[in-house]
Amino acid sequence: MRKAVWVIVFLLCWWVVGPVPLEDPRASGAPDLSDRRGMIEKKLKLLDSQTLMSEIESSPTEKKDENEKKQRQRKTENDRQREPEQKKPSKAPVDRDEQKRPVLYYQGPSDQKRVALTFDDGPDWRYTARILDILKREKVRATFFLVGRMAEQRPDLVRRMVREGHVVANHTWNHPNLPRLRDEQVKQEIERTNRVIWEITGRSPVLFRAPYGSLSQRVERLIAEEGMTIVHWNVDTRDWDGRSSDQIIQTVRQQAGPGSVILQHTAGRNLDNTVAALPQIIADLKKQGYTMVTVPELLGIPAYEESEEPRTIGAARN
Ligand SMILES: [Zn+2]
Repeated sequence: MRKAVWVIVFLLCWWVVGPVPLEDPRASGAPDLSDRRGMIEKKLKLLDSQTLMSEIESSPTEKKDENEKKQRQRKTENDRQREPEQKKPSKAPVDRDEQKRPVLYYQGPSDQKRVALTFDDGPDWRYTARILDILKREKVRATFFLVGRMAEQRPDLVRRMVREGHVVANHTWNHPNLPRLRDEQVKQEIERTNRVIWEITGRSPVLFRAPYGSLSQRVERLIAEEGMTIVHWNVDTRDWDGRSSDQIIQTVRQQAGPGSVILQHTAGRNLDNTVAALPQIIADLKKQGYTMVTVPELLGIPAYEESEEPRTIGAARN
């Protein structure tokens, strides 16, 4: 009887592991290891469902205990999914590594006179090029949180941003209110945007900003699973709602301080006042002794996935 068990165990091992290729998988013609891993996982799943081993080894009481344990685990997972959604995250950088959540930033360190200008929702046909012209003339670098479907339509401007030293980041594909979407849709919004930016620039962003700053615990967890870091702002110019350029200038004068992340827009219905205010905002900040840096510089974090080989800008598709 004991011998028979060992024979079954051996045969199972052979069936699961199978004849693993010994040659270098990178050699041409060799099967893809990820396919092989998928096959092994499928086999293991099958094994699990058949619970062959437990039938051989465990008594009926042990099996009952095991089932109860599994049910308890499933219940806890369901409870976790039903957690109430968080309204507004607290201020200041929140380190949530321990909870497997992304780091969420509202501003950078306040020990140096540095600020980051950020522009959302572009690129577009009316304002983005004008904003880039001003930044180039003033020798200031900024961070652009791009909407994926807009980037797809203006790849030339996305390439120009990177070429002129700006940082491009992810602001979803379609600018939705993320907590209203299903898990899979949230992930698609992020992945599709990263993919199009990678296709255009050869770089895959790791910085993310939620449309309307709208988040929930569930959405934060999904963003973390996508490997993104969330960057919001602590100075909101509200330039999109028809304010005068003077009001926009005053907001930055009154609210910006060391480490500030300043929110403006580069696409929208009417941003003439954003464009008109920008030279004065830059002049004010320079006069007060501020250096304008990109968000990753301000926070001391990477802007793009480091493992990827950057391609030459301009060599990508049109
Ligand atoms: Zn936006």
